[in-house]
Amino acid sequence: MLVEGAILDRDGPRPAAVRLRGGAVVEVGQRGTLRPHPDEHKVRGIVVPAPVNSHTHLGDAVSVREPPDGPVEDLVAAPHGYKFRLLASSTRAAKVKAIRAALSRMNEEGTGTVVDFREEGLDGVRLLRYAARGQPVRVVILGRPVARPIDPAELSGILAESDGIGLSSARDETATARRTVGRACRAAGKHFALHASEAVRERPETFLDPKPDLLVHLAKATEEDLLEVAADRVTVAVCPRSNALFARQPNLAGMERAGVSLLVGTDNAMFQAPSVWRELEFAYVATRLKGRPVSAGYLARAALVEPYRWLGIPEASSISVGAPCRPLVLRLPPDDPEYQVVTRTTEHLILRSARPRVAGRFP
Ligand SMILES: [Zn+2]
Repeated sequence: MLVEGAILDRDGPRPAAVRLRGGAVVEVGQRGTLRPHPDEHKVRGIVVPAPVNSHTHLGDAVSVREPPDGPVEDLVAAPHGYKFRLLASSTRAAKVKAIRAALSRMNEEGTGTVVDFREEGLDGVRLLRYAARGQPVRVVILGRPVARPIDPAELSGILAESDGIGLSSARDETATARRTVGRACRAAGKHFALHASEAVRERPETFLDPKPDLLVHLAKATEEDLLEVAADRVTVAVCPRSNALFARQPNLAGMERAGVSLLVGTDNAMFQAPSVWRELEFAYVATRLKGRPVSAGYLARAALVEPYRWLGIPEASSISVGAPCRPLVLRLPPDDPEYQVVTRTTEHLILRSARPRVAGRFP
Protein backbone atom coordinates (compact mmCIF):
# COMPACT_ATOMS: atom_id res chain seq x y z
CA MET A 1 0.00 0.00 0.00
CA LEU A 2 1.20 3.48 -0.85
CA VAL A 3 0.05 6.41 1.31
CA GLU A 4 0.41 9.86 -0.23
CA GLY A 5 0.01 12.62 2.28
CA ALA A 6 1.79 13.20 5.56
CA ILE A 7 3.55 11.67 8.53
CA LEU A 8 2.93 12.81 12.10
CA ASP A 9 5.41 11.22 14.51
CA ARG A 10 8.18 12.14 16.96
CA ASP A 11 9.86 14.28 14.30
CA GLY A 12 6.67 16.30 13.90
CA PRO A 13 4.27 16.73 10.97
CA ARG A 14 5.60 16.67 7.41
CA PRO A 15 4.45 15.92 3.87
CA ALA A 16 5.49 12.41 2.85
CA ALA A 17 4.80 9.25 0.92
CA VAL A 18 4.89 5.99 2.88
CA ARG A 19 4.86 2.41 1.59
CA LEU A 20 3.45 -0.18 4.00
CA ARG A 21 3.54 -3.95 3.74
CA GLY A 22 2.04 -6.33 6.30
CA GLY A 23 1.47 -3.41 8.63
CA ALA A 24 5.13 -2.36 8.57
CA VAL A 25 6.81 0.69 7.00
CA VAL A 26 8.99 -0.47 4.10
CA GLU A 27 9.73 2.82 2.30
CA VAL A 28 9.45 6.54 3.06
CA GLY A 29 9.93 9.34 0.54
CA GLN A 30 8.94 12.86 -0.36
CA ARG A 31 5.31 13.34 -1.38
CA GLY A 32 4.92 12.38 -5.04
CA THR A 33 8.25 10.60 -5.35
CA LEU A 34 7.22 6.94 -4.77
CA ARG A 35 5.64 5.16 -7.75
CA PRO A 36 2.89 2.65 -6.98
CA HIS A 37 3.79 -0.93 -7.83
CA PRO A 38 1.45 -2.79 -10.19
CA ASP A 39 -1.76 -3.63 -8.27
CA GLU A 40 -0.62 -1.58 -5.29
CA HIS A 41 -3.40 0.23 -3.47
CA LYS A 42 -2.78 4.00 -3.30
CA VAL A 43 -4.53 6.16 -0.70
CA ARG A 44 -4.40 9.71 0.61
CA GLY A 45 -3.95 10.16 4.33
CA ILE A 46 -1.80 10.66 7.40
CA VAL A 47 0.46 7.96 8.88
CA VAL A 48 0.86 8.06 12.68
CA PRO A 49 2.19 5.71 15.35
CA ALA A 50 -0.60 3.90 17.22
CA PRO A 51 -1.85 6.17 20.02
CA VAL A 52 -1.39 5.29 23.69
CA ASN A 53 -4.17 5.64 26.25
CA SER A 54 -2.05 6.56 29.25
CA HIS A 55 -4.56 6.39 32.09
CA THR A 56 -7.49 4.05 32.58
CA HIS A 57 -9.25 2.04 35.25
CA LEU A 58 -10.47 -0.76 32.98
CA GLY A 59 -11.91 -2.82 35.82
CA ASP A 60 -14.66 -0.21 36.09
CA ALA A 61 -15.96 -1.21 32.69
CA VAL A 62 -17.98 -3.84 34.56
CA SER A 63 -20.56 -1.16 35.30
CA VAL A 64 -20.95 1.49 32.62
CA ARG A 65 -23.39 4.17 33.71
CA GLU A 66 -24.16 7.82 34.29
CA PRO A 67 -22.42 9.02 37.44
CA PRO A 68 -24.76 9.42 40.40
CA ASP A 69 -24.89 12.85 42.05
CA GLY A 70 -22.26 13.65 44.61
CA PRO A 71 -18.63 14.58 44.95
CA VAL A 72 -16.09 12.51 43.01
CA GLU A 73 -14.45 11.42 46.27
CA ASP A 74 -17.61 9.55 47.27
CA LEU A 75 -17.69 7.84 43.89
CA VAL A 76 -14.14 6.62 43.44
CA ALA A 77 -12.54 6.72 46.92
CA ALA A 78 -11.04 3.49 48.25
CA PRO A 79 -12.07 1.31 49.94
CA HIS A 80 -15.81 2.05 50.31
CA GLY A 81 -16.66 4.49 47.48
CA TYR A 82 -19.35 3.63 44.95
CA LYS A 83 -16.83 2.26 42.45
CA PHE A 84 -15.11 -0.01 44.95
CA ARG A 85 -18.47 -1.39 46.11
CA LEU A 86 -19.30 -2.17 42.47
CA LEU A 87 -15.93 -3.85 41.92
CA ALA A 88 -16.31 -5.89 45.10
CA SER A 89 -19.82 -7.03 44.20
CA SER A 90 -18.97 -8.02 40.59
CA THR A 91 -17.80 -11.50 39.70
CA ARG A 92 -14.37 -12.18 38.28
CA ALA A 93 -15.97 -13.46 35.06
CA ALA A 94 -18.00 -10.27 34.66
CA LYS A 95 -14.89 -8.12 35.12
CA VAL A 96 -12.87 -10.15 32.62
CA LYS A 97 -15.66 -9.90 30.05
CA ALA A 98 -16.00 -6.14 30.53
CA ILE A 99 -12.25 -5.55 30.31
CA ARG A 100 -12.03 -7.59 27.10
CA ALA A 101 -14.87 -5.57 25.60
CA ALA A 102 -13.04 -2.34 26.47
CA LEU A 103 -9.77 -3.65 25.00
CA SER A 104 -11.58 -4.75 21.88
CA ARG A 105 -13.01 -1.27 21.42
CA MET A 106 -9.56 0.24 21.94
CA ASN A 107 -8.17 -2.07 19.28
CA GLU A 108 -10.93 -0.99 16.88
CA GLU A 109 -9.77 2.57 17.42
CA GLY A 110 -6.16 1.70 16.74
CA THR A 111 -4.90 2.12 20.29
CA GLY A 112 -1.55 0.34 20.59
CA THR A 113 -0.98 0.46 24.35
CA VAL A 114 -2.95 1.27 27.49
CA VAL A 115 -1.55 2.16 30.91
CA ASP A 116 -4.01 0.95 33.54
CA PHE A 117 -4.33 1.64 37.26
CA ARG A 118 -5.54 -1.74 38.53
CA GLU A 119 -7.02 -1.76 41.97
CA GLU A 120 -7.77 -4.86 44.09
CA GLY A 121 -4.20 -5.86 44.95
CA LEU A 122 -2.42 -8.83 43.41
CA ASP A 123 -5.74 -10.44 42.42
CA GLY A 124 -6.56 -7.30 40.45
CA VAL A 125 -3.24 -7.43 38.58
CA ARG A 126 -3.72 -11.11 37.79
CA LEU A 127 -7.27 -10.55 36.58
CA LEU A 128 -6.18 -7.86 34.11
CA ARG A 129 -3.16 -9.91 32.96
CA TYR A 130 -5.52 -12.82 32.29
CA ALA A 131 -8.11 -10.66 30.50
CA ALA A 132 -5.41 -9.08 28.30
CA ARG A 133 -3.82 -12.35 27.20
CA GLY A 134 -3.89 -12.68 23.41
CA GLN A 135 -5.34 -9.19 22.93
CA PRO A 136 -3.61 -6.97 20.35
CA VAL A 137 -3.55 -3.95 22.69
CA ARG A 138 -0.50 -3.99 24.96
CA VAL A 139 -1.55 -3.49 28.59
CA VAL A 140 0.82 -1.83 31.06
CA ILE A 141 -0.46 -2.66 34.55
CA LEU A 142 0.13 -0.44 37.57
CA GLY A 143 -1.16 -2.39 40.57
CA ARG A 144 -2.16 -1.12 43.99
CA PRO A 145 -1.48 -2.79 47.34
CA VAL A 146 -4.53 -3.11 49.57
CA ALA A 147 -3.02 -3.40 53.08
CA ARG A 148 -2.20 -0.27 55.14
CA PRO A 149 0.35 0.14 56.53
CA ILE A 150 2.06 -1.23 53.41
CA ASP A 151 2.76 -4.95 53.72
CA PRO A 152 6.19 -5.57 52.13
CA ALA A 153 5.22 -9.09 51.09
CA GLU A 154 2.08 -7.87 49.30
CA LEU A 155 4.04 -5.04 47.64
CA SER A 156 6.80 -7.28 46.33
CA GLY A 157 4.21 -9.83 45.15
CA ILE A 158 2.44 -7.15 43.11
CA LEU A 159 5.69 -5.75 41.73
CA ALA A 160 6.75 -9.22 40.60
CA GLU A 161 3.71 -9.43 38.29
CA SER A 162 2.90 -5.80 37.43
CA ASP A 163 4.67 -3.02 35.56
CA GLY A 164 4.63 -0.81 38.64
CA ILE A 165 2.33 0.73 41.22
CA GLY A 166 -0.42 3.34 40.79
CA LEU A 167 -1.54 4.89 44.07
CA SER A 168 -4.72 6.83 44.78
CA SER A 169 -3.19 10.20 45.71
CA ALA A 170 -0.61 11.75 47.99
CA ARG A 171 -3.25 13.00 50.42
CA ASP A 172 -4.80 9.53 50.69
CA GLU A 173 -1.48 7.98 51.69
CA THR A 174 1.03 8.63 54.47
CA ALA A 175 4.48 9.89 53.53
CA THR A 176 5.85 6.58 54.86
CA ALA A 177 3.58 4.56 52.55
CA ARG A 178 4.55 6.67 49.53
CA ARG A 179 8.25 6.37 50.27
CA THR A 180 8.05 2.62 50.87
CA VAL A 181 6.24 2.15 47.56
CA GLY A 182 8.47 4.59 45.66
CA ARG A 183 11.63 2.90 46.93
CA ALA A 184 10.37 -0.59 46.07
CA CYS A 185 9.38 0.50 42.54
CA ARG A 186 12.75 2.11 41.99
CA ALA A 187 14.58 -1.02 43.22
CA ALA A 188 12.47 -3.22 40.93
CA GLY A 189 13.01 -0.90 37.93
CA LYS A 190 9.25 -0.36 37.63
CA HIS A 191 6.91 2.62 37.39
CA PHE A 192 5.68 4.58 40.39
CA ALA A 193 2.57 6.66 39.66
CA LEU A 194 -0.13 8.47 41.59
CA HIS A 195 -3.11 10.77 41.13
CA ALA A 196 -2.45 14.36 42.21
CA SER A 197 -4.44 17.58 42.64
CA GLU A 198 -7.61 16.14 41.14
CA ALA A 199 -10.44 17.48 43.34
CA VAL A 200 -8.38 19.82 45.50
CA ARG A 201 -4.92 21.32 45.15
CA GLU A 202 -2.19 19.30 46.81
CA ARG A 203 1.22 20.75 47.54
CA PRO A 204 3.99 19.64 45.16
CA GLU A 205 6.25 18.78 48.10
CA THR A 206 3.79 15.97 48.93
CA PHE A 207 3.21 14.41 45.51
CA LEU A 208 6.82 14.96 44.41
CA ASP A 209 8.17 13.17 47.51
CA PRO A 210 9.34 10.65 46.54
CA LYS A 211 9.64 11.63 42.90
CA PRO A 212 7.11 9.64 40.85
CA ASP A 213 7.40 8.58 37.20
CA LEU A 214 3.88 9.71 36.49
CA LEU A 215 1.27 12.07 37.98
CA VAL A 216 -2.36 11.86 36.91
CA HIS A 217 -4.73 14.88 36.61
CA LEU A 218 -3.20 18.03 38.21
CA ALA A 219 -6.59 19.63 37.47
CA LYS A 220 -6.24 21.90 40.51
CA ALA A 221 -2.52 22.65 40.15
CA THR A 222 -1.39 26.27 40.03
CA GLU A 223 0.96 27.59 37.34
CA GLU A 224 3.76 27.51 39.95
CA ASP A 225 2.97 23.85 40.70
CA LEU A 226 3.22 23.06 36.99
CA LEU A 227 6.61 24.76 36.78
CA GLU A 228 7.83 22.64 39.70
CA VAL A 229 6.57 19.45 38.08
CA ALA A 230 8.26 20.41 34.80
CA ALA A 231 11.52 21.29 36.58
CA ASP A 232 11.49 17.86 38.24
CA ARG A 233 10.89 16.28 34.82
CA VAL A 234 7.88 14.33 36.03
CA THR A 235 5.47 13.23 33.30
CA VAL A 236 1.76 14.10 33.67
CA ALA A 237 -1.27 12.23 32.31
CA VAL A 238 -4.43 14.31 31.95
CA CYS A 239 -8.03 13.12 31.59
CA PRO A 240 -10.05 16.22 30.57
CA ARG A 241 -13.39 14.44 30.00
CA SER A 242 -13.24 12.74 33.38
CA ASN A 243 -12.43 16.06 35.05
CA ALA A 244 -15.22 17.84 33.16
CA LEU A 245 -17.81 15.43 34.57
CA PHE A 246 -16.96 16.91 37.95
CA ALA A 247 -16.72 20.52 36.76
CA ARG A 248 -12.95 20.87 36.58
CA GLN A 249 -10.27 21.02 33.90
CA PRO A 250 -6.50 20.73 33.73
CA ASN A 251 -4.71 23.90 32.63
CA LEU A 252 -3.33 22.43 29.41
CA ALA A 253 -2.08 25.75 28.05
CA GLY A 254 -0.21 26.26 31.34
CA MET A 255 1.26 22.77 31.08
CA GLU A 256 2.39 23.46 27.53
CA ARG A 257 3.93 26.79 28.57
CA ALA A 258 5.69 25.16 31.54
CA GLY A 259 7.11 22.46 29.28
CA VAL A 260 5.38 19.56 31.07
CA SER A 261 5.80 16.20 29.34
CA LEU A 262 2.13 15.38 28.72
CA LEU A 263 0.23 12.12 28.26
CA VAL A 264 -3.53 11.71 27.84
CA GLY A 265 -5.88 9.10 29.28
CA THR A 266 -9.59 8.32 29.50
CA ASP A 267 -9.74 7.47 33.26
CA ASN A 268 -12.68 5.53 34.74
CA ALA A 269 -14.14 3.16 32.16
CA MET A 270 -17.37 3.36 34.16
CA PHE A 271 -18.04 6.91 33.00
CA GLN A 272 -16.06 7.44 29.75
CA ALA A 273 -15.53 5.28 26.70
CA PRO A 274 -11.83 4.42 26.47
CA SER A 275 -11.37 6.42 23.26
CA VAL A 276 -8.20 8.44 23.06
CA TRP A 277 -9.46 10.24 19.93
CA ARG A 278 -12.56 11.55 21.73
CA GLU A 279 -10.33 12.60 24.61
CA LEU A 280 -8.04 14.57 22.28
CA GLU A 281 -10.87 16.43 20.59
CA PHE A 282 -12.53 17.28 23.88
CA ALA A 283 -9.24 18.43 25.39
CA TYR A 284 -8.58 20.74 22.47
CA VAL A 285 -12.07 22.25 22.37
CA ALA A 286 -12.35 22.62 26.16
CA THR A 287 -9.27 24.84 26.31
CA ARG A 288 -10.90 27.12 23.72
CA LEU A 289 -13.98 27.43 25.95
CA LYS A 290 -11.75 28.61 28.75
CA GLY A 291 -9.96 31.10 26.52
CA ARG A 292 -6.63 29.42 27.24
CA PRO A 293 -6.02 27.45 24.04
CA VAL A 294 -3.57 24.59 23.89
CA SER A 295 -1.85 23.74 20.61
CA ALA A 296 -3.00 20.73 18.60
CA GLY A 297 0.64 19.72 18.29
CA TYR A 298 1.11 19.45 22.06
CA LEU A 299 -1.98 17.22 22.34
CA ALA A 300 -0.99 15.08 19.36
CA ARG A 301 2.38 14.42 20.98
CA ALA A 302 0.61 13.47 24.23
CA ALA A 303 -1.08 10.56 22.47
CA LEU A 304 1.45 9.58 19.79
CA VAL A 305 4.95 10.47 21.00
CA GLU A 306 5.48 11.23 24.70
CA PRO A 307 4.04 7.94 25.98
CA TYR A 308 6.62 5.96 24.03
CA ARG A 309 9.38 8.01 25.62
CA TRP A 310 7.77 7.33 29.02
CA LEU A 311 7.64 3.62 28.25
CA GLY A 312 11.35 3.67 27.36
CA ILE A 313 10.77 2.90 23.65
CA PRO A 314 10.96 6.33 21.96
CA GLU A 315 11.83 4.70 18.62
CA ALA A 316 8.31 3.19 18.56
CA SER A 317 6.98 6.70 17.85
CA SER A 318 8.95 7.01 14.62
CA ILE A 319 7.38 6.32 11.23
CA SER A 320 10.50 5.04 9.50
CA VAL A 321 11.86 1.87 7.95
CA GLY A 322 12.99 -0.59 10.61
CA ALA A 323 11.52 1.33 13.56
CA PRO A 324 9.53 -0.87 15.97
CA CYS A 325 6.39 1.22 15.42
CA ARG A 326 2.82 0.14 14.78
CA PRO A 327 1.75 2.55 12.02
CA LEU A 328 -1.85 3.62 11.54
CA VAL A 329 -3.17 5.12 8.32
CA LEU A 330 -5.85 7.75 8.89
CA ARG A 331 -7.94 8.76 5.89
CA LEU A 332 -7.75 12.46 6.70
CA PRO A 333 -6.72 15.43 4.55
CA PRO A 334 -2.94 15.60 4.91
CA ASP A 335 -2.79 19.36 5.40
CA ASP A 336 -2.12 20.56 8.95
CA PRO A 337 -1.86 16.97 10.27
CA GLU A 338 -1.75 17.83 13.99
CA TYR A 339 -5.06 19.66 13.83
CA GLN A 340 -6.65 16.99 11.65
CA VAL A 341 -5.60 14.14 13.91
CA VAL A 342 -6.60 15.86 17.16
CA THR A 343 -10.00 17.16 16.06
CA ARG A 344 -11.24 14.78 13.38
CA THR A 345 -10.11 11.21 13.91
CA THR A 346 -12.65 8.46 14.42
CA GLU A 347 -12.20 4.71 14.11
CA HIS A 348 -14.03 4.83 10.74
CA LEU A 349 -11.12 6.74 9.26
CA ILE A 350 -8.52 4.09 10.16
CA LEU A 351 -7.57 2.10 7.10
CA ARG A 352 -8.08 -1.51 8.17
CA SER A 353 -6.04 -3.07 5.41
CA ALA A 354 -2.94 -1.22 6.59
CA ARG A 355 -3.18 -2.62 10.13
CA PRO A 356 -0.58 -5.15 11.26
CA ARG A 357 -1.97 -8.67 11.15
CA VAL A 358 0.31 -10.15 13.76
CA ALA A 359 -0.32 -9.26 17.37
CA GLY A 360 2.70 -9.03 19.60
CA ARG A 361 5.08 -7.78 16.93
CA PHE A 362 5.04 -4.54 18.86
CA PRO A 363 7.61 -3.91 21.64
ZN1 LIG B 1 -7.48 7.58 37.71
